[in-house]
This record gives sequence, C-alpha cells and structure tokens, in this order.
Amino acid sequence: MVEKKINTVYDVVCPFCGTLCDDLEVDVNIKENLVVEVRNACQIGTKKFFSSNPSPHRYEKPLIKDNGTFKEVSWDEAIDIAADILAKSKRPLLYGFASTECEAQSKGVELAETLGGILDNTASVCHGPTLLAEQDVGVPTSTLGEYKNRADLIIFWGSNPVHAHPRHLGRYSQFVRGYFRKDGRNDRFIIVVDPRNTHTAQIADLHIQVNPNEDYELMNGIRAMLRGVELDAKMISGIPIEKIKELIKILKECKYGVIFFGMGLTQSLAHHRNIDTAICLTRELNDYTKFLITPMRGHYNITGANTVFTWNTGYGYSIDFSRGYPRYNPGEFSSVDLLMRDEIDASLIVASDPASNFPAASVKNLFKHPLISVEPHHTPTSENADIILPAAFAGIECEGTAYRMDHVPIRLRKVKDAPGECLTDREILEKLILKVKEKLGE
Ligand code: SF4
Repeated sequence: MVEKKINTVYDVVCPFCGTLCDDLEVDVNIKENLVVEVRNACQIGTKKFFSSNPSPHRYEKPLIKDNGTFKEVSWDEAIDIAADILAKSKRPLLYGFASTECEAQSKGVELAETLGGILDNTASVCHGPTLLAEQDVGVPTSTLGEYKNRADLIIFWGSNPVHAHPRHLGRYSQFVRGYFRKDGRNDRFIIVVDPRNTHTAQIADLHIQVNPNEDYELMNGIRAMLRGVELDAKMISGIPIEKIKELIKILKECKYGVIFFGMGLTQSLAHHRNIDTAICLTRELNDYTKFLITPMRGHYNITGANTVFTWNTGYGYSIDFSRGYPRYNPGEFSSVDLLMRDEIDASLIVASDPASNFPAASVKNLFKHPLISVEPHHTPTSENADIILPAAFAGIECEGTAYRMDHVPIRLRKVKDAPGECLTDREILEKLILKVKEKLGE
C-alpha cells in the first residue's frame, strides 16, 4: 500500500478577517507537518496558513528575557514567572483576544477577574464606537447569507473590502449570485462613500467622495432631505445637493439595501455619533424599502471577543475588575488611554500586536513595565516582551469557535499540529489561572 503523504482538509475556515470564509481546502504534508497548498483563500488568508509553518519567525519554546536576550525555559518556569508578575501587579492589563477562539477569550475573562485587572480587546481601537452606538440606538441588521440572496443595493461606507476583506465581494456582497439576485453583479448597484478613490470605489457604480471627517454632516443632510426638508446649502460635505438628491432616489427605489461600514466611519471625527446616525438613517430608510446595516469587522474573531466578554461581564470591551465586579468605561478603561496615563504596572497581551498600531507614547509606557506575550510568531510587541509564551494558531493548529462579522458562530477546524512545544491560547491561560490562584492563595 502506498503511504499517504498529503492530507487534504476540506471546508476549512480562514482565521484572518471577519468574513471567516469557510470553504478553504488545505493540503498538509503529513510527515513534515507543513501546509503545502491552500485553495480558495485570498492572498492574505493564504499567507496566514503558510506563516504557521516552522520558520525563524515562529516561537516554538517558552522564552524569558535575561540581560536583554531571550533564553529558552520550561513551561513550568515560564508560567511560574508570568503568574508571579501578574499576581504581584496592582493594575495588570489583559489585552488582545481578537485573533483567538472564544474558549480562550472566556479564559481571559476568568483570569482578569481573578486578578482584579483591566480586560480589553482590539475593539477599543477599531469598532468600539460601533458597540457604543448600538447600545444607544439598537441596530437593524441581518446575516451575510441574507444579503447575498436579497440585496440589490450595497453601500460600502468608510470601508475598502478589496484590500481588507477581499472575498467579501465574491462571497456575499458584489459579484456573487444569490437566490433572488441570479445575475450576480448585474443585479446589484454598488455605492462607495469614501474620501479616497480606493480600489473598491474604482469598481463601484457610484463613488460619493465625501470630505474627510464630514460623514456625520452628509448623513444628517440625507436624513433631513428624506423627511422632505429643503436645504438652502448648495453642497454638504463636498457633495452637491443635486447629487445627494440622486443618491436619495437610488436609496428609496432599491428593494433591499445594506450599509457595510468600516473604520473610515468609526475612527473619523464624531466616532460613535457617526454610527449612531448611520443606524438612524438605515432605520428611517425602512419607511420606503428594506434597509439594514452591518460593520466590517477586521480581526477574524473580534466579534467573538465582544460577544464572549459581554455574556461573561455584561460589557464588550474596556472592562475594569479592580473593585471585584466589572465596570465599563471606554476612554477611562480602554488600553490606549490607560497606557497614555501610565496607569498599568504589568500586561498580558494575547494574540495581538499593540506595539504596531498604538500611539508611540502609549507603547513606550507598555514597554516600561513587565510584559508577557502569548504569541505564535515574532512581532514588535513580543520582541519587546519579558516573557513569550508560544501559542498554536487557533483555526489552523487547534479547533475553537469564532463569530463572523454578522454574529454567526462558526466552528474553526484544525489542519495540522503546532510545532515544538506550542500550546493553545486556552491551555496557556488555564495554566496561568491555576498558578495565579495558587499564588493568591485561592
Ligand atoms: S476574505 Fe478574509 S476570511 Fe476570506 S480568505 Fe480572505 S482573509 Fe480569509
């Protein structure tokens, strides 16, 4: 009998962006435990699978910084020192959790509560304003499957899926054929609202080139005109009134519209008030037709992090356990604000790289205090950590659950084993919880 060299795993879920494509096929060299081929994924998804293969960039053993250089240690030693740092800390920050699975996120909540620390995820620097707005005014939304089958008008507002969610267009929103949209792209009208002439704008039917930071004014102008108000301005946010009238006609005449919005809306001036207004506009359009709204979530399981944190604590991010119960106050307990005020004295970063995208002044303060990184490969954060706990890639080297951007939970598949001594994020956090409890005498 010929020995099987390649194992093909079907219906693999891509653990990269919030689209969570679930139709990948991955070939694995069984003997060498290597990903050798990925089919159906986009370039960034494919790259993530290949980056799980052993390389000089991959951590395979626990490391501790000793006189400025990392030395390998046993898991017992690494967990003991990491737990010691956390147990002695007065205000530890636990941050990240967007690129790992729900079971690990749940353990992160348990550890933060045990420590009386701060618990935060990457929503505090991306779609936190979306959560705030949804808490304020609710949200009329649906699933990507519904949009695929029904939507004939798609608006990308402040998002550029050609780069950030490449297969979203082919699977759910632009080129795909749906049950009621049999002609695919020809059955859909695509609008992009963006100050930049993005690649998504270049393949749209209509580009509304709004002035930077003036989305709020444009949306409220549309809302007023929808109600029949005659505005005396000739332009709103750089868009001529006549063009806005044409846009409103398109919005009212569609059968089923959807707004997909991104960080162009959440992180520009007005922040959560932008989203609040976008949701209200969506709701008001339902006086004329069917209209819904969905955020384009970036990291593949940031929706899961918000969901798991909420079902455990009542809040989606920026949570403080220092009084023994969860308190929520973005701006006070969000990571960047805490770090800018230099209010933390140790940190545990799980599956995230804040050093690459936080403001430099906050990163300086992050590096000033003991830093533990749970991470599969080299990042600016992990390279500046005091302890590195090497993790398996969730969704490639272990199973778990993740929530797609539309809140649909999907089971991640394992395609290969993790190299070296890597453990899963969940296993690492379980070990830390046990050790911290032991040190705290619980
Ligand atoms: S669109 Fe996102 S989930 Fe789909 S293959 Fe690309 S990176 Fe992965």
